Amino acid sequence: MAAALGAAPGEIVFTSGATEALHQAVADRVRPGQHVVASAVEHPALFGALERCSARVTRVPVDAAGRLRVEDVVAALEPATALVALMAAQNELGNLYPVRAVADAVAPVPLLCDAVQAFGKVPLDVRALGCAAAVVSGHKIGAPPGVGALWSPAGRAPRALLAGGPQERGQRAGTENVPAIVGFGVAAEHLPRRLEAMVAVAARRERLRAGLAATEGVRFHGAPDLPNTLAFRVDGVAGEALLQAFDLEGVCLSSGSACSAGGLDPSPVLLALGLDAATARGGLRASLGPETSDADVDRVLALFPRLVARARAAAEGARACA
Ligand code: PLP
Repeated sequence: MAAALGAAPGEIVFTSGATEALHQAVADRVRPGQHVVASAVEHPALFGALERCSARVTRVPVDAAGRLRVEDVVAALEPATALVALMAAQNELGNLYPVRAVADAVAPVPLLCDAVQAFGKVPLDVRALGCAAAVVSGHKIGAPPGVGALWSPAGRAPRALLAGGPQERGQRAGTENVPAIVGFGVAAEHLPRRLEAMVAVAARRERLRAGLAATEGVRFHGAPDLPNTLAFRVDGVAGEALLQAFDLEGVCLSSGSACSAGGLDPSPVLLALGLDAATARGGLRASLGPETSDADVDRVLALFPRLVARARAAAEGARACA
């Protein structure tokens, strides 16, 4: 794991996932009422951790393509800002963020980097990021789900979030999930091959993008620097309708929407791009992996026009009935 991150073994704490690692890193640095600067498109796990610590949060906006400007982060700083949080790659869009430039620009304020989505897709070296702490998650690199890691540089061990035992050098109490951690280590050993495979993943993603673009009304979201992510919507079609239609064909897409109180909340990330709620509800995401084959891409492209036409007809029918 340490080698895969460019770190030393003693700098890593294994956790139950990135959510826990983010909570530990935030609790380590932020006292109630303190000010934190975070990009508007951080993962809900980060915002949840900040809320849990009663942090006062300034969200730095992104542009319509999901890009973030270093100077906007700097402008959000206050004299006593305790932490800046910036993800290395956006999980719904695939954009990479300038973590090193932001870390340098906000120093000496520490930067917490959610590197979950970048890990295994692009080369990652936590020291080169210039951050004070970074988190990664096993399931993004082919490890069993339910394991993550928090990296902090030597000499700055994070305070335990879970107390009551000496495990992880006193930085995380509780019996370690050894099978998952071993799986994480094995997946990390395979990382060079996974990264090599990303060249083919990027080519397939581009073929998918070009194929989807042939259907009228398809709009792409973000500026995906990652090789595997393709976020899009189809005018006049609810993301959930298309997601279910593909699901019945055995193809898994993500909608980025969350069910709450019986309704569908649009993705906060798409809202941060400036889309209105109705448009954002159209959001869908295809994620490719090293296992995704050319035949998988062909199948999706063959299904797409038919399923879009069906979903459009159903939406028009529903409107006519209303
Ligand atoms: N951060 C990002 C960018 C993610 O995509 C995810 C989820 O996959 C998380 C954090 C939370 O990770 P975990 O599920 O390991 O808690």
